Amino acid sequence: MIFSADIITLFPELFPGPLGASVLGRGMADGLWRLQATQLREFATDRHRTVDDTPSGGGAGMVLKPDILARAIDKVSPEGDTRPRILMSPRGRPLTQARARELAQGPGAVIVCGRFEGVDQRVIEARQLEEISIGDYVLAGGEVAAMVLLEAVVRLLPGVLGALDSSDEESFENGLLEYPQYTRPQVFEGREIPPVLVSGDHGKIARWRHDQSLQLTQQRRPDLLNEARPLDSRTKFP
Ligand code: SAH
Repeated sequence: MIFSADIITLFPELFPGPLGASVLGRGMADGLWRLQATQLREFATDRHRTVDDTPSGGGAGMVLKPDILARAIDKVSPEGDTRPRILMSPRGRPLTQARARELAQGPGAVIVCGRFEGVDQRVIEARQLEEISIGDYVLAGGEVAAMVLLEAVVRLLPGVLGALDSSDEESFENGLLEYPQYTRPQVFEGREIPPVLVSGDHGKIARWRHDQSLQLTQQRRPDLLNEARPLDSRTKFP
């Protein structure tokens, strides 16, 4: 069974967008995962294909109607579908590498993209939508957020990235930010590659990288170090 993503959106033409490029696009062409974007407006029932209405209680903007959205969800995700149903939302739990990894191990995802002021609360409850945020700022719609989520998940699927473990040592995977990377030339505008990296001593290189990771995390993201997690689980290197 391949990882299967369904998107419900007012702008299906935005997909696959960046998800169709590079290794993710190749993975899709190779049948490692699939993506289908569905136009929410197809589930409208009136002549004008209305999908939104004014907020109950007053205020600016429009709200996506629960009945139309529920119909779309039920169509792309009929009873028996075990995929998580996700709503992209600034009120959601912030997306983490850990959640991306969990999703990558599952059957796929059904992702609802909000627009305008958001969606009627009752459809969130009735269809048990898991709200996920990509950060503490407000976008105009959920489409780019859904792409961010899927890009983080799909690159973790087996076979999508070239080397099997090339994602293991990256930022967040071990609770730390990644160490600095270098490549040739040996000297760039007077700056040398740190000599330890060209020493050939793999133990020393591993310790240097771990040290750099710790320092960077302390400087930039001390909040990551405060997470309840033993320090030795943050590294494969003793
Ligand atoms: N009125 C809402 C914001 C609506 S923005 C509020 O204050 O919470 C319109 C849509 O964009 C949302 O329904 C959601 O699907 C998407 N969106 C905006 N910011 C987002 C974020 N940080 N993460 C995920 N989705 C977001």
